[in-house]
Amino acid sequence: MKAARLYEYDPAMNVRLKIEDVPSPTIDRPDEVIVKVGAAGLCRTDLHIIEGVWRDIMDSHGSLLPYIMGHENAGWVEDVGSGVTSVKPGDAVICHPLRTCGICLNCRHGHDMHCQNNLFPGLGLDGGFAEYFKTSERSLIKLNTGITPLSVAPMADAGITAYRAAKRAAKLLNPGDWALILGVGGLGHIALQVLNEMAGCRTIAVDREPGAQVLAKELGADKVLSGGPDLIEEVRQITGGGARVVIDFVGELGVENLCWKLLKNGGDLIMVGYGGTIEIPTLELVAREIRIGGSLVGDYTELVELMELNADGKVKMHQTEFALEDINTAIDDFKNRRFTGRGVIVPGAPSARRVEERTAEAVK
Ligand SMILES: [Zn+2]
Ligand SMILES: [Zn+2]
Repeated sequence: MKAARLYEYDPAMNVRLKIEDVPSPTIDRPDEVIVKVGAAGLCRTDLHIIEGVWRDIMDSHGSLLPYIMGHENAGWVEDVGSGVTSVKPGDAVICHPLRTCGICLNCRHGHDMHCQNNLFPGLGLDGGFAEYFKTSERSLIKLNTGITPLSVAPMADAGITAYRAAKRAAKLLNPGDWALILGVGGLGHIALQVLNEMAGCRTIAVDREPGAQVLAKELGADKVLSGGPDLIEEVRQITGGGARVVIDFVGELGVENLCWKLLKNGGDLIMVGYGGTIEIPTLELVAREIRIGGSLVGDYTELVELMELNADGKVKMHQTEFALEDINTAIDDFKNRRFTGRGVIVPGAPSARRVEERTAEAVK
């Protein structure tokens, strides 16, 4: 099969993935499923993997290279292990990004992200930037009738990550409160839609890119700001003291030490983006009673909920599609923010195909 493989880490991000023919994955365990990849979202985590940010955590010897990234996958079941009963070849599915054991206590509580025996295809083992990809039955959600893999693939990670954070925020927000989203990219634009559906609050979207600002307006943000040097003052003026909840989808490049300053007293910061280091005086936490917490991807059940919102047309992915052969162009465009929303790799598409930005619509 054709696949895009990473051969080296490079903090300067100048490496290119190699497009090559490699053996297709095979079933080794009874619960495994081979998925024919319909589409695979391109994630900032993929850029961080290339940069080597994850190297010490998952590959300190560099011995996992080369491998296939891609952890936001949807497609059609191609082959199933002998123990698989819930899906069959031909079924359209979206893949929760983790392969979980189902047996550990965290799994039994439904905390998939904290499964003690998890595997994460696309991070250190082969993922979906290929024609076929292997996962397990527990990770799969059958798509609703009329929903195509291409219209939902990035929901598998970008989508649920935004959904989990926004759902948590929605529980904290009352009508009249302000929620503020930092970064209206592949995740931020989903969070905005989820807040519109699940919270009665007002929203501020902050992004320095004009394209992202337009998208935020289209998606119903009450205020859209460019994040200039006066941001803190602007937010205080609009909100009368600060946002009740800030969701930071950037988490680096200095934003990590700006985000908590946008909160009102008693406010909550939900960190989703990562890479930077927060430095905050303890007095600030105490005197202003602000809370800071992280939010990691999402549980299987949260992906099920998000797929229902998507099937009802309430949360849609705004995306730009690239052929597998053009994945290096996609990475370049992503790094340089030449598209808004999510970049999506489509293994079945002919090279040089680049579908201009659009909101993915299901084929009903
Ligand atoms: Zn991702
Ligand atoms: Zn487990």
